[in-house]
Amino acid sequence: MADRKPATPLCDQFGFDAEWREAQLTLIGLDSHSRDDVRMLHEKLLTREAAERIIDQFCSQLLKNRQVADLLSSFDLRHLKARQVDYFSEFGVRFRDARYFESRAQVGVAHARVGVPLSLYLESFGMLQCLILESLPGHIEDRSQRQTMMRLVLKLTTLDIALATEVYHRSRIQDLDRSVKSRRLEQNLLRTRLEQDALTGASSRTSLLRELQNAIARCEKTGQPLAVIMADLDHFKVVNDTEGHLVGDRVLAEVAARIKAALREFDLVGRYGGEEFVVLLENTSPHTAHQIAERIRQRIGSQPVHAAGQQVEITVSQGIGMWVEGDDRQSLLKRADEAMYAAKNAGRDCIVEV
Ligand code: GH3
Ligand code: MG
Ligand code: MG
Repeated sequence: MADRKPATPLCDQFGFDAEWREAQLTLIGLDSHSRDDVRMLHEKLLTREAAERIIDQFCSQLLKNRQVADLLSSFDLRHLKARQVDYFSEFGVRFRDARYFESRAQVGVAHARVGVPLSLYLESFGMLQCLILESLPGHIEDRSQRQTMMRLVLKLTTLDIALATEVYHRSRIQDLDRSVKSRRLEQNLLRTRLEQDALTGASSRTSLLRELQNAIARCEKTGQPLAVIMADLDHFKVVNDTEGHLVGDRVLAEVAARIKAALREFDLVGRYGGEEFVVLLENTSPHTAHQIAERIRQRIGSQPVHAAGQQVEITVSQGIGMWVEGDDRQSLLKRADEAMYAAKNAGRDCIVEV
């Protein structure tokens, strides 16, 4: 069977690879000699009963702090104590192993998730460290052995503190990262909603009016011609009345697509009202504007729109307004609108320019 790497998702996620782990151990001074010391630590000091005693003391000291008591109030204390004793039973055992780092990292992540402030977390670690050190004299008589154990406890708790702090920060940063990303997504969605008409995908009225304003400003500077087409569907009310609103909606979306397909890349179509679209044609002569309007008329009128199993015949009346010196948004749109009404009066499905 192939050798399977142990699952260490947190180490992988936070980049605690073999090289990084070795660097930490070297810095702290945990080496191959420490393994025998760890064995002695567990034989002489961290027996299950001793660990339970230390944890009892640790918990009663912790609970004197109101912030801790509040934080722990929703947890099952017996279960937490049992977890702490387990934590002791593994203290320093196979510290070189990625799984050791993984289990320590889990502690940091768990604390970050619960929202334990880092200062409180580090103080608790310090408290635990003191309790272990204080229990040393009662278990180990030999002075030099005691010193070795003391150094080992300090090194192992240093490793735990370093790992937990690292993971605590990194998981906080990841949470922030995630929340920034989701805010950005929301923002983009809102922007799209503001800029785009949801039903037809054409520019929204807000964005259309802004673009028209900008186009007029450019015209005033350069004197280049600007044409505006006001396009209004003919007898659209009848479509709604005979085929239903849903079919009407589909027709509107298809009409917008057909208008877009008739335009050049830099032209812009916006939904001005219910079944009225406005097309902005910058740097466009009356002749070209007329050609484009004719393309729109043909694309819409030459083939029925297929919507919900229905074939809907639809035509469009268009009015073209050319920008003249002194025109603002309103006056230009009004001119195009008047031309569109003239097209309606001329029998619909046609183009009038002013
Ligand atoms: P005309 O040729 O004179 O323009 O006739 P018309 O029926 O198109 O004109 P009118 O302005 O009387 O009717 C426009 C219709 O467009 C009425 C309204 O119900 C419909 N409409 C507006 N917005 C929407 C929409 O978002 N979806 C659907 N399905 N219909 C809409
Ligand atoms: Mg209308
Ligand atoms: Mg209409």
